[in-house]
Order: sequence, then C-alpha cells, then structure tokens
Amino acid sequence: MIKTLLIVVASLVCLNAGEVNVYTHRHYPSDKILFKKFTQMTGIKVNVVQANSDQIMKRLEEEGKYSPADLLLTVDVGRLYYAKEKGLFQPIRSKFLEEVIPSNLRDEEGYWFGVTKRARVLVYNLDSVDPKSLSTYAALTDEKYKGSILTQTSANIYNQSLLASIIAHKGAKEAKAWAKGVSENFARKPTGSDRDQMRALAAGMAKVAIVNTYYVGQLINSDNFSDKAVAQMIGVFFPNQGENDTGAHMNVSGVGVAKYAKNRENAIAFIEFLCSKEAQEVFTSVNYEYPVNKNVAPSKLLQSWGAFKEDDIELRKLGRYNAEAVKIFNEVGWE
Ligand code: FE
Repeated sequence: MIKTLLIVVASLVCLNAGEVNVYTHRHYPSDKILFKKFTQMTGIKVNVVQANSDQIMKRLEEEGKYSPADLLLTVDVGRLYYAKEKGLFQPIRSKFLEEVIPSNLRDEEGYWFGVTKRARVLVYNLDSVDPKSLSTYAALTDEKYKGSILTQTSANIYNQSLLASIIAHKGAKEAKAWAKGVSENFARKPTGSDRDQMRALAAGMAKVAIVNTYYVGQLINSDNFSDKAVAQMIGVFFPNQGENDTGAHMNVSGVGVAKYAKNRENAIAFIEFLCSKEAQEVFTSVNYEYPVNKNVAPSKLLQSWGAFKEDDIELRKLGRYNAEAVKIFNEVGWE
C-alpha cells in the first residue's frame, strides 16, 4: 500500500516537472549519461528521437507546428545555420548561456548555442612525418604532399565548414585554389569516416589526414585492439599556429529550441544544463570534445595534445558560406 502510494507520489512529481522532447543525431555515450543526469536533477523526463542528421531535420521541417520536438541537437554550425534559416528554431535569452559561451560559438540572436567544440586538425603518421615539417592548412597544397593526403568526401559537412572558413578568411578565389591543390594531393579518392582516414594513415597509405580530434580520442579509448594500435601510430598537429595565422579550425555541436516547442522552459533548462560545468566535464572526458563553457578545462587527454590557438571566427559565417563551399568543391572535382 505504502509502496503504491510512493510510486503515485513519485510519478506526480515527475508529471509536475514535465518533459522535454529532444531530436538529436548525436549518438554518443556522453549524451545518454547527460540525459539521465538531467532527469535525476530536475525530474524532467527526456524523450529522445534519434535519426541521422538529414532525416531528423527533415522530420522537424515536415512536422511543422505539429512537431513534438522541443529541441534540435545536432553537429556542425552548417546545420545549425540551416535550421535557423529554415525557421526551425525560436530565439531564447539566457543570462547564463550568454555569460559562459563565447559569442562566436552561438547565434547572435539566440536561435542556437554551441554545446561542445571540435577542432578539425591534421593527424600524421609518426613513422614517416616529422611534425616540424607541418604548418598550415594552406601548406597542404604543396608538391611535397603529392599522393599523401587523406580526408572525407566533400559531402562531409566538416570539410564544407573548413572550406567555408577559408572563404571567410581569404576569399573565394584563394579558397578554390586551396581545394584544388589539396584534392590534387589526395592519396586516394575520398571515402570513409574520419576514423577510416586514420586507419589508412596508420597502414602507411599517406602522410597526413584531416580529421576531428575527438575521433582520435575514440580510437585511443577503443575496445577494438587494432583501432587502439592505429592511435599509437599517429600524432595530432594543430595547424595555423603562427603569429599571423588564424588558428586551428573550430566548429561546434549545438542545439536550438524548436520553433513550436511546447516545453520551452524545460528546453531552456536543458540547454543550460548541457553547458553547465558538470555536463561539460562529461562531454570532454567521455566524448573527447572541447568544452564551450569558458570556465571548464578540457580533459587530461585533450590537454596532452597541447594548448593551441583556435580560429575564433564567428561561426555563423561558416553557415553563410556553406553553399559557396559546396560549389567550389564541385568545381574543383573534390569528390
Ligand atoms: Fe563527428
């Protein structure tokens, strides 16, 4: 009897706190831990709808005002920018978020906020490359890299955002010359994921690969013996560190409140939780991403790769130049 009563009371408390419906395409253990923690702390139930990035955004778009989604959590500013343009988000104000997240990592009108940072860098084969010979993204067009660069296809939004950053910094003409030069130095036709590039690199197929750092963390901590071995054979290099250079290319994984959110307050509380010190520490230690909260330090592993200068460009600019980046990739034949 008492037990039943307790269950009824507990569920009433939960009902009171309500729920929040999250559309996400992130598929990391860190997120599962955080969703659970949020419910423990607030009593707010987190309902997760997971699908690949394009499906989840399309679903939100098609559902329109009937969508149950309160939040869209996705990766890459290219997608966050697109979601804002398509009218899928609504603006919010949060003193906390505005205080802890640097302004270049969130939308200026509050439509989206970065929740983790990722660096797109060079990894190199420890056997065949002296890191002193590495310098900038621009240097990858050099003759000496003929047949020795690995990266994903141009359909990959991380590469699109990298090229968009070059357009933003140096203009379309120089960006096009860069894309052409790099594609002429490919070790193979672009294929596979960032992890696949590192596997090929460790197998001796190339000298350098362009990848996001958290995938290095995933290989280092993999349960798979051969992936662990891959991680032992590669080094991390942060490009563009010279005094007049832009710094390593940064991007975010981020979130926005859905335009027709029915649980708006819960959604805001959820974003604030994701950017809290506690949650940021989970992102950096479990998924090897960099914190967006300027008061939180990266995990020990990330620190072991060294401190570095970050490109602090307003990320929304990368969204603005996405279409042009795609066009340039097509023109130069970067598959
Ligand atoms: Fe990724």
